[in-house]
Amino acid sequence: MSRTPIIAGNWKLHNNPEQTVEFVNAVKAQLPDPSKVESLICAPAVDLDALRKAAEGSNLHIGAENCYFEDEGAFTGETSPKVLHEMGIQYVIIGHSERRGYFHETDEDINKKAKAIFANGMTPIICCGESLETREAGKEAEWVVGQIKAALAGLTAEQVSSLVIAYEPIWAIGTGKTASSDQAEDMCKTIRETVKDLYNEETAENVRIQYGGSVKPANVKELMAKPDIDGGLVGGASLVPDSYLALVNYQ
Ligand code: PGA
Repeated sequence: MSRTPIIAGNWKLHNNPEQTVEFVNAVKAQLPDPSKVESLICAPAVDLDALRKAAEGSNLHIGAENCYFEDEGAFTGETSPKVLHEMGIQYVIIGHSERRGYFHETDEDINKKAKAIFANGMTPIICCGESLETREAGKEAEWVVGQIKAALAGLTAEQVSSLVIAYEPIWAIGTGKTASSDQAEDMCKTIRETVKDLYNEETAENVRIQYGGSVKPANVKELMAKPDIDGGLVGGASLVPDSYLALVNYQ
């Protein structure tokens, strides 16, 4: 299997630029070789400049947590994908359940953002995941497959091969309630099969799929041992240097 594992911190609305620099200084010498495990931090837009400068020359890759689908114009309060690229940002998370829920981001927005991120030479991390209600109704696979089909509409096989999908069941985010490694694997496998149906075997083999939702040093190894789980998208446990280091050095 040629997929390089990718462990990404999602800092959400935490840390200021000074705290960002302190974090990078605490972790940068102990990050794994990026050909073995890719270490990524996705931070608030206001921290990205400090983060990129602090991470220069290290194995830490940098991502944003959101962007808009237009490069410029009269869009008060938005973040330009073009400027993120100019700043040296490599990844952008899109479609996180907090953005879908609190900020009404739609499947159509997410698809437009994915295209804008590629047009600007960056890689999207596309989030998907069901609510507890949807899982209890037994409709979680149908729900997630629908999100994936909508997010990928119009993308080429080459683009899909290079992007990252993060499966994050909403009921497991920030709750301490991780999906079991079997539940996580089942859905990641379903996502890979969906990519195979939409594109081809090679694209499905290439796309990296993360699990997110209460990933911690104590459960990362078990999750990463699953064949269709290629990484983690980690909120709470990515904020503390020691815990982040334990995650990226899980091997
Ligand atoms: P958590 O968040 O690790 O704190 O559950 C994950 C996420 O929302 O990406």
